[in-house]
Amino acid sequence: MYFATLASGSSGNSIIVGEDNRNFLVDCGITVKRLLANVDMINLSAAQIEGIIVTHEHSDHIQGVGALARRLKIPVYATYGIWDEMEESLGVLKPEQKVIISEEIYLAGMHIQLIPTSHDSRESYALKVTSKRHTLAIATDSGIVTREMSKNLLGCNAYVVEANHDLEMLINGKYPWYLKKRINSQYGHLSNIQLGKALCEWLTENAKNVVLAHLSAENNTPELALNTVINILRGSEVKHRCPKLKVRVAPRHLPHELIILDR
Ligand SMILES: [Zn+2]
Ligand SMILES: [Zn+2]
Repeated sequence: MYFATLASGSSGNSIIVGEDNRNFLVDCGITVKRLLANVDMINLSAAQIEGIIVTHEHSDHIQGVGALARRLKIPVYATYGIWDEMEESLGVLKPEQKVIISEEIYLAGMHIQLIPTSHDSRESYALKVTSKRHTLAIATDSGIVTREMSKNLLGCNAYVVEANHDLEMLINGKYPWYLKKRINSQYGHLSNIQLGKALCEWLTENAKNVVLAHLSAENNTPELALNTVINILRGSEVKHRCPKLKVRVAPRHLPHELIILDR
């Protein structure tokens, strides 16, 4: 399995996941033009994207979904509630491009399990992707680590996970009060510390890669997210459990280099 974030943060999110040249996208919250350019930048072929799975209906996750599905003639996968919220904004799709899913699907030869997160959208999901040899957890846009996330994201080989904000920067920053409250609520976003603690639970000796994603441009910095999470992991058993662990940060507008999980 291999994967890369193509864009990450409230300005737009997308992740490409693949194995044996069969790929799918998780969300497309950027324009088609940018998406195609970013796929090209990591030497993958957009023609080999077999579908788009949508985690929730916020615009930073769906902005380019309809246009990309039309351009590549591929299906879009989402739960009933997400379709109900987003269908109008996607524009016209062929009936066969609209696929309603529930707890799990097979896409591009991989199994994807949907795991409820806690977020201020009608529905929202983290994903656990399982291929022949690897498992990848994708979890952003959750105010807390839900019981389902705790249980199902344990022991994966790689993680793309939200380190949205530094709590002090958020509290002291210039966002209006209602927005601070929203982000810090149980339906908002995970802070660096919340994520660091969750990783201490999730990471087993199987884990090799962590990519910190959906960083706030206003209330976080890549260095702060990285340092906070690494310090928490170093102070825990993870230091001994995962000596080869790499923790990196997803760039906001550019793709992360392709991370290839070894066999
Ligand atoms: Zn988001
Ligand atoms: Zn969201």
